[in-house]
Amino acid sequence: MGSFVGFKCQFCQYEEPGIGIGRGKAGFPFLALYRCNHCHTIGSTWIYENKIPRCSQCYDDALTILPEDTRRVNCPKCGEPGVITSKEGSWE
Ligand SMILES: [Zn+2]
Ligand SMILES: [Zn+2]
Repeated sequence: MGSFVGFKCQFCQYEEPGIGIGRGKAGFPFLALYRCNHCHTIGSTWIYENKIPRCSQCYDDALTILPEDTRRVNCPKCGEPGVITSKEGSWE
């Protein structure tokens, strides 16, 4: 079962309020949190075995995959420290 997180930067106000992450009953694919170094966004994308993960916004593969328990990550827009928080709700 997956969950949702949100990213918020206090400095430039960039926000991604509802990012789905986690995995279903099977191990693959699963939704992983990433920071895209190409279009400078935070998001999540499906990770498949033996496939290169790509940004769900720009389809580039210049991603930094973030561990599920990441709580602080530098804002992709302005480089200042941003915060990742858990959100209500879940998905299957
Ligand atoms: Zn920022
Ligand atoms: Zn991108």
